[in-house]
Amino acid sequence: MLSWEESQSISSMRCDRAWVEVDVGAIAQNVREIQHLLSPKTDLMAVIKADAYGHGAVTVAQTVLQAGAKWLGVATIPEGIELREAGITAPVQVLGATYTPDQLRAMVRWRLEPTLCTPKQAFVFSETLSDHAYSVPVHVKIDTGMSRLGAPWQEAAEFVQLVDRLPHLELSSIYSHLATADSEDPTVMQLQHQRFQTAIQQVQETGIALPRLHFANSAATLSDRQLHYDMVRVGLGIYGLYPAPHLRSRLKLQPALQVKARVTHIKAISAGTGVSYGHRYIADRDMRIAVVGIGYADGVPRNLSNQMQVLIRGQQVRQIGSITMDQTMLDVSNIPDLELGEVVTLLGQDGNNSITADDWADKLGTISWEILCGFKHRLPRIAVGQTLECWEQAAT
Ligand SMILES: *Cc1c(COP(=O)(O)O)cnc(C)c1O
Repeated sequence: MLSWEESQSISSMRCDRAWVEVDVGAIAQNVREIQHLLSPKTDLMAVIKADAYGHGAVTVAQTVLQAGAKWLGVATIPEGIELREAGITAPVQVLGATYTPDQLRAMVRWRLEPTLCTPKQAFVFSETLSDHAYSVPVHVKIDTGMSRLGAPWQEAAEFVQLVDRLPHLELSSIYSHLATADSEDPTVMQLQHQRFQTAIQQVQETGIALPRLHFANSAATLSDRQLHYDMVRVGLGIYGLYPAPHLRSRLKLQPALQVKARVTHIKAISAGTGVSYGHRYIADRDMRIAVVGIGYADGVPRNLSNQMQVLIRGQQVRQIGSITMDQTMLDVSNIPDLELGEVVTLLGQDGNNSITADDWADKLGTISWEILCGFKHRLPRIAVGQTLECWEQAAT
């Protein structure tokens, strides 16, 4: 057992180097903003797969449920179990594929609701539950054009009939996923929507009572109310990012995640000195540089080397040389009185300046989703509120 003093000193060390700060107030506010777009009959599923896009699944789950989200969406069974072990009781749908009896037993044990994509899977699941007295809620996924999970939309009615007929399976919802909802060209999205409508109509014609229907991700939630149905599945928007620039005008979202690190070393170098592996930066004048305790093993993409800005005291500061596994160098010539332990904002807001996941994504030719879930677990997740405490402890 650690003594109280020892555990205090370890917890203060949690942010002595680098950390991710999660503004739970921003997440709650984003949930409320998104709910303003929804009709009262449409529920919000907060998609919190991949550790809530890097924000910390349990904290985010508690926050979004308190702010009014009704459902949680995860990709994997362990992600769902983590929520249950934390005492979260809200309905949790597993959006990813599952197909073995063991997986189903785990989902039943932890009250996680599976996605059904094929007749084979439906037979296996129904058979696995044969000694159960009750039915398990399942979600039928149909592929309307994403070409990922789901039964072909042309076969949806037949598939739903099968699920409806098989013992121990209770049809909880029918859903599909959009491939191009963030595009300014709505053609494919409209085609997918027509297919969804056709499939639903064919289900209805079989006489089966329609269960809950859902179709929209963040982009579709922001772009078109017709796509909302009974529930929307929102990931990115909850974390305060827009799926595409043209969707910005629909509502005001606030990024919740910030990445911060401390200055761990400061030195002067003379003109002509090479910096970091490969000397991919050569000082063009005498300068002062700072070493910051964060690197690519924390999830700062090495491809940002020599092209990243960070914020110190609200000012933009240039990153120089190759980003290394644990450390990164900055040109701090413009801050002569910089001190050890000062906080560097890599992503987030400092004074009037901010750097967003979209800024990084643009530089890297990728999307903000990938940036957010790229931060490693070496970075402690600090919910704002605890941060101040952390700061003070580390500063004293
Ligand atoms: C990840 C995911 C979402 C959320 O997507 P965002 O674009 O982040 O809103 C919704 N539905 C499914 C099936 C997903 O896999």
